[in-house]
Amino acid sequence: MSERFLSGRHAVITGSTSGIGLAIAKAYAKAGASITLNGLGDKAMIDALVAELGKAHGVTVRYSAANMLKPDEITAMIKDAEKEFGVVDLLVNNAGIQHVAPIDEFPMEQWDRIIAINLTSAFVAMRAAIPGMRQKGWGRIISTASAHSLTASPFKAAYVAAKHGIAGLTKTAALELATSGVTANCISPGYVWTPLVEAQIPDTMKARNMTQEQVIQEVMLERQPTKRFVTVEQVAGTALFLASDSAAEITGTNISIDGGWTAQ
Ligand code: NAD
Repeated sequence: MSERFLSGRHAVITGSTSGIGLAIAKAYAKAGASITLNGLGDKAMIDALVAELGKAHGVTVRYSAANMLKPDEITAMIKDAEKEFGVVDLLVNNAGIQHVAPIDEFPMEQWDRIIAINLTSAFVAMRAAIPGMRQKGWGRIISTASAHSLTASPFKAAYVAAKHGIAGLTKTAALELATSGVTANCISPGYVWTPLVEAQIPDTMKARNMTQEQVIQEVMLERQPTKRFVTVEQVAGTALFLASDSAAEITGTNISIDGGWTAQ
């Protein structure tokens, strides 16, 4: 694939003000796509991200403040992008949150939030973007699932249910779109080194009286056989490949990037 193979394409990436989504936005911008960034964060930080990304890669970058809890805002995000760029060529459903508690103590509002942000938002965005992609005869729908789309952990009922849902939604979209030139796939990372993960280390060191290395190896990477974190750039690399012509026949799959986690 040529370096700027996404020139002329527009990508909407939900939850792209941080972590994996931001890395995908950078990779797509570097490949020449114009970008709709989305996610939470303070205005100055987001303004700086928009300016930096556009300047670094010579592409148009806009920001949508759509809250993934709100279907109307998600639909408007897609429609506004279509008005400005013609069509949403690439949709990356990436926004996600977590809450950890046993099922019988799991707060209803946390269940509803996780299902809304981690699953329903992807359905709503697809629903809005698919007609334009189908009409153009080209499109890429990529969703960030998780090792928890294939396996479970205790105390993560809503997250595991939502991520399994993403895998099923992806397969359904792939079948519905099979002859349209639009592919739908998901990516399932294991533990990824993001600011979110890094920030948990000092508290865990204190709580368990462990060194940083012990927290990483014995707590965080316990299920990841390679005993290394996945990097956001590795996830973005797979999202970039899925956007390429080489991946045109890859649809309905769930690609693991988990250091062997789900091979066990
Ligand atoms: P992150 O917290 O760095 O990024 C999450 C993004 O979602 C942020 O931009 C945040 O602002 C946005 N977001 C949260 N609530 C939102 C809302 N209501 N509306 C709009 N945007 C909202 O986390 P990350 O680790 O980069 O996670 C990104 C995705 O990857 C998630 O779907 C997560 O489940 C998945 N994932 C992460 C890991 C990991 O280890 N970090 C592993 C597997 C899967």
